[in-house]
Amino acid sequence: MDAPRADRPASPPQGLRSVQVGEWRITALSDGYFRLDGGAMWGVVPAKIWRALTPPDADNTIRLALRPFLAERGGERIVIEPGIGARWGPKERERYGLESTPDLGSSLRALGLAPEQVTHVVMTHCHWDHIGAAVVEGADGVLAPRFPGARHFAPAVEIERAKRPGHARQASYREDDVRVLERAGVLEGFAGRTELVPGLTAHELGGHSDGVSVITVGDEQAECAIFWGDVVPTTHHVQPAYIMAYDLDVARSFEVRGEWIARAAERRWIGLFYHDEGTAFARIERDGKRYVARPLA
Ligand SMILES: [Zn+2]
Repeated sequence: MDAPRADRPASPPQGLRSVQVGEWRITALSDGYFRLDGGAMWGVVPAKIWRALTPPDADNTIRLALRPFLAERGGERIVIEPGIGARWGPKERERYGLESTPDLGSSLRALGLAPEQVTHVVMTHCHWDHIGAAVVEGADGVLAPRFPGARHFAPAVEIERAKRPGHARQASYREDDVRVLERAGVLEGFAGRTELVPGLTAHELGGHSDGVSVITVGDEQAECAIFWGDVVPTTHHVQPAYIMAYDLDVARSFEVRGEWIARAAERRWIGLFYHDEGTAFARIERDGKRYVARPLA
């Protein structure tokens, strides 16, 4: 393995890799890291605040994880948010500081799992840094689903946007990401609140993107985990007003974040964080008027 570049931090300690939530075992995987502009990730939050929470490089970018999760119960093996994938040229790899190790394939191999053993893939929305890894390029250059035997779920409106994004959304979607899955007949759209698999439920919220959703795993009234996706991208984004500049509908984002962060804190759900550099699992707790995310020990 290559030594980390001098100007890039080595991967922070990742701590806990797996938790048991009721009958589900949830494991943090990895599809590597990338970098986005810190100001864009933090929207209206003053630099003085965010630079302390997520220290930027000289070019003002911050390092973000690409962290899929695996939810297992009996014979069900569900990948939540596959990752950014490998279909990137040198230009994009450089622009986004893409680090592709460990990637989704090697994460699953380390658990002894072959792609054929994955039964479901769930996407919270169709931005390329979340869905890209669902499609792989074969040796012949032909694109195909990475998990050919799995049922794939994504918000119906997101599938539509990926195909016809229009100017404002163009930079966030790639048509191939959904077309390849559709052609293979493995992609199903959902809307609103949908129990995708008994005990695993998508809640379409909107705000960050038209159909962005959160996923609950377990019994929402008892033991439950919530995959935040881009609704709460890192453990530092737990104040409802900490909204990314990427979010399309800021008012909607504020409303749904306020509601769902409060709910997760009240019910003591375990949060699953996709973009947090070092923390996969944390509970959000209320601390006076503010919230704090406490990583699971
Ligand atoms: Zn997104």
